[in-house]
Amino acid sequence: MATLIINELFDDSGHEDPGHPERPERVTAALDGVRDLHLGDDLVIVPARAATRVELVRAHDGSYLDELGAFCYGGGGDIDPDTYATYDSWLIAKHAAGAGLAVIEELQRRKHGVGFVAARPPGHHALKDRAMGFCLLNNVAVAAATLVGQGQRVLIVDWDVHHGNGTQAIFWDNPDVLYVSTHQWPLFPGSGTASEVGGWHAIGQTVNIPLPPGATGDVVRRGIEQIAAPVIEEFAPTWVLVSAGFDAHRADPMANLDLTSGDFAQLAKTVVGFAPKPGRLALFLEGGYDLEALRASVRSALSAVLEGSAQDERPSSGGPGAEQMQKAFDERTAALSMMHDASEGEVEP
Ligand SMILES: [Zn+2]
Repeated sequence: MATLIINELFDDSGHEDPGHPERPERVTAALDGVRDLHLGDDLVIVPARAATRVELVRAHDGSYLDELGAFCYGGGGDIDPDTYATYDSWLIAKHAAGAGLAVIEELQRRKHGVGFVAARPPGHHALKDRAMGFCLLNNVAVAAATLVGQGQRVLIVDWDVHHGNGTQAIFWDNPDVLYVSTHQWPLFPGSGTASEVGGWHAIGQTVNIPLPPGATGDVVRRGIEQIAAPVIEEFAPTWVLVSAGFDAHRADPMANLDLTSGDFAQLAKTVVGFAPKPGRLALFLEGGYDLEALRASVRSALSAVLEGSAQDERPSSGGPGAEQMQKAFDERTAALSMMHDASEGEVEP
């Protein structure tokens, strides 16, 4: 059994908007999922810390950080119809970003184990200069940018049911990051078509696998195997970070995919296979709004990465989407060939 490294819970009760689905009970449910595994000495908890400004500006504009901090300390409120902040949110968001960094630092010290970052608010919709979709700071992007600064090549697998538009945009033209997302489409935030393949310096290093409502785990797995796996193999990541949202579960109220907790176990095993060596994999909590499904999915996914056997539900299959996988593959291929054609003969960009 591998060691699980998680962050110490920083009090996030001050980041709450009564009735909003992105609520403190989510982290409690995720941690209950960890507790269910009874890891004993195989569970390591690293002290909470806030991300510093130097760390945050690797993924965000300094002016945005100033604005967000001032907005929170001014009492907060609604940033957009989905996204809120309170007086406490600035400190809590900095600790959510810091949690990922602390877990990665511990993995680097130990050179083995798997990281799980259970913190909120989530991050993958946050753009470099804007909060969005419940997200204030892009936790996984801050971690990935930090690793890139250390010379690493980072694969981000985003299996949240929503497209991680913020993460995609931050690394759009960065050749040291490969961003792979499976998500229901169309759905918030609207981006994430297969023809979005990355910028001129990173052609092909954005991989989007859009899924129709009702899609089951077998289709998700097929999309990853057929569309993403060859790109991942060629990219040869030295680190793997996962935007692990659990809102693709069939019980989740926010979307309409048909996954079970058993599917998250299978997905987790798949990402273990992408990591080049032990101690180079960390999962970041993103969405997941049905507390029971979240707890069961965290338990199943982490059990799978730790080579345990807790799996509450069988993996799902038989849903729609097989034809869309071919369509996605064709759209991606067409977009790539257009970019290659356009860049041919181009003078140094
Ligand atoms: Zn989501």
